[in-house]
Amino acid sequence: MNAEAASARVVLERRRKPDWLRVRAPTGDALAETRRLMRRLNLATVCEEAACPNIGECWQQRHATVMILGDTCTRACAFCNVKTGMPGPVDPLEPVHVAEAAAELGLAHIVITSVDRDDLPDGGAGQFVKVIHAIRARAPGTTIEILTPDFRNKAAAAVEAIVDARPDVYNHNLETVPRLYPTIRPGARYYQSLRLLETVKRRDPSIFTKSGLMVGLGEEPLEVQQVMDDMRVADVDFLTIGQYLQPTPRHAEVKAFVPPRQFEAYAAIGRAKGFLLVAASPLTRSSYHAGADFAAMQAARAAAVNGAMPAPDALRA
Ligand code: SF4
Repeated sequence: MNAEAASARVVLERRRKPDWLRVRAPTGDALAETRRLMRRLNLATVCEEAACPNIGECWQQRHATVMILGDTCTRACAFCNVKTGMPGPVDPLEPVHVAEAAAELGLAHIVITSVDRDDLPDGGAGQFVKVIHAIRARAPGTTIEILTPDFRNKAAAAVEAIVDARPDVYNHNLETVPRLYPTIRPGARYYQSLRLLETVKRRDPSIFTKSGLMVGLGEEPLEVQQVMDDMRVADVDFLTIGQYLQPTPRHAEVKAFVPPRQFEAYAAIGRAKGFLLVAASPLTRSSYHAGADFAAMQAARAAAVNGAMPAPDALRA
């Protein structure tokens, strides 16, 4: 084999999905029922729009992450499969429909995210507030986790409005290391996203804050550790790290399939840096096992307040 062929083979090997990323094809009654419910209520999910590999497992357990403010995003991030373009008007019935989905699915914990809506004067913050209020009214036992965009140029007012509606968890993903922002997340600014997370915590320290990274985009482990330090300065409680997967050939390519032992190392380092909880594995996504992780965070915080070490299962990676 000549050098060129050898190097092509190395690239191919790097891109072929390793065994640890193979998942079963999604099937099952609960999955079909969840899909029907979302269609009936005219709701989009990030599970489908982002082609998440965990959809079989999550939807079989009736756990779906609802994507509000439509299915069309005003940004075009290199990693994201969500449709880009000019979105339609905001659906005034959406908050009620999300609350209905939470009630019908019997969810203990719901994750709500959205597309970026740079076209709206408030970036869509008002719709997040309405959704939180609607869920509190219709499904009062459901805890609420929101995963928001960065609300470019209107973050302060948007974040204050949402925090004052008191979600249980506020998540905003940094996605990747700052060096890769110009190519992977060109419409966003790393330090603005960090500031958003810090603003949430300053305004209401009782709300858990959460942020996530995708790895395999060409970042170095030391850069990941620097992001962890930045998150800790912003007092982020919960860190998630998962493998980036290229949704289509038009998207950023996978530079490396990070082996499970590296995720374990990241989890150990994150815990040592003081996060209440770290979830790091090839298939970890922001909303993967979000309900169980919320319970673990509560336990970890209670243990920290009481000066005791959290139970080992409250620190699962
Ligand atoms: S991990 Fe999150 S986005 Fe993926 S299927 Fe599960 S709930 Fe949906």
